[in-house]
Amino acid sequence: MTLPPPSADVVVIGAGVIGCSTAWHLARLGAGRVVVLDRGRIGEGTSAMSSGILRTHYSVPGNVELAQRSWRFFEHFAQELGDDEASAGLVKCGYLIAAPAGEKCEALDAALAAQAARGIAVQRLSAQEARELLPIARLDDAALIGHEPDAGYADATLTATSLARAARRLGVHFLEGVAAEGLVIEGHRVRGVLTAAGRIGTAMVVSAQNIWAHELGRWAGIALPLVAERHRVLALAGPGAYTSAMPVFKDLASPGMLYTRSYGRTQMLVSEGTAGEVLAVPDTAQGDVSMDLVADIGAQVAARFPGWEEAALASSWTGVYDVTPDWNPVLGPLPGIEGLVAAFGFSGHGFKLSPAIGELLAQTALGLPTAVPLQTYAFERFAAGRLLRGRYGAGAVS
Ligand SMILES: Cc1cc2nc3c(=O)[nH]c(=O)nc-3n(C[C@H](O)[C@H](O)[C@H](O)COP(=O)(O)OP(=O)(O)OC[C@H]3O[C@@H](n4cnc5c(N)ncnc54)[C@H](O)[C@@H]3O)c2cc1C
Repeated sequence: MTLPPPSADVVVIGAGVIGCSTAWHLARLGAGRVVVLDRGRIGEGTSAMSSGILRTHYSVPGNVELAQRSWRFFEHFAQELGDDEASAGLVKCGYLIAAPAGEKCEALDAALAAQAARGIAVQRLSAQEARELLPIARLDDAALIGHEPDAGYADATLTATSLARAARRLGVHFLEGVAAEGLVIEGHRVRGVLTAAGRIGTAMVVSAQNIWAHELGRWAGIALPLVAERHRVLALAGPGAYTSAMPVFKDLASPGMLYTRSYGRTQMLVSEGTAGEVLAVPDTAQGDVSMDLVADIGAQVAARFPGWEEAALASSWTGVYDVTPDWNPVLGPLPGIEGLVAAFGFSGHGFKLSPAIGELLAQTALGLPTAVPLQTYAFERFAAGRLLRGRYGAGAVS
């Protein structure tokens, strides 16, 4: 086991996209000695199962701002990191979102207007125009179709490892295979992190533990509002290709609020945007993908993509979301403990926000003004009843 250093200026727990982004921003901002702990390996937590979709479309205004800031980073990823070889695996194919008449249409209309007000290029397309972008879909039933050309998908593991490499070059010390086992707290102030390999003295800890954040809650004596939810993702081989030039698609009319994108340039990656299976214990082990579920999603796909009723299941996997009561993250200090900054509860949409969130967490940890105010994401919002509920209801579209 690698021995941790005896002390650090900041310890980050968790090396997923959020922890790696935070570590890189900390180093860039001159945080001094930064140590990142992961009990596994970089990018191999829940980030490894991400569908990787990047969009700025949200009904919660703060999320639009974080996603817009993050998109700029993804678009110029190698340049931002100062590493010509760095890649997030970005595929800029655009994002199409269609709603039936009614509440979802009103929510979509308002969200498109809010995006446009922030200077984001969005278009309202006719069914015919949308079909030119996604010819495999039937869109004649949509009351409103939004298009965001500056969107697409990327690879979360590649992003995490690229951020980690850039952070290492700035002096960040990554310890893989080392679990944080507790915090040293003296008089409501963080003094260190306990690991199986020894104690690291520090006055600042950033927890980016995702579904394992309950451990942090135990160490800090705070009950965190968080459930681990397993979600199923399918890759389908259809009658024609879902090419990587075709946009990501969000189907607000489908019962499962389906999202689809190209997978491997020919197949369709598809998953539901609704609630998943609540796990009693956080665990990324693969769960069952039942034939009933495949048939159910298959029927929804067939209703939208003519000819895809004959699609074959090419592969399937499961991934776990860290879900809060309002499907939005908690970002910032936890109450009553100085020197502790937490980020958890990404509720299935944290990858697209990770560049900005890393920046804001790093600024918070260093006592700097944050580039975007974080108050609305504070832990205290749950007790105060100021939930960040999106207009699309529960789900990762938020
Ligand atoms: C199926 C699926 C699809 C998704 N699709 C999208 C999408 O299309 N777009 C999008 O934006 N987001 C998506 N997401 C969400 C996004 O992928 C996540 O929000 C993001 O990857 C979470 O990153 P993280 O760093 O918080 O967590 P993780 O990657 O899980 O990292 C947490 C790390 O902390 C470590 N850790 C925890 N506790 C300890 C400890 N005590 N000591 C040491 N290490 C510890 C773990 O080992 C782990 O590596 C999806 C998620 C899933 C599961």
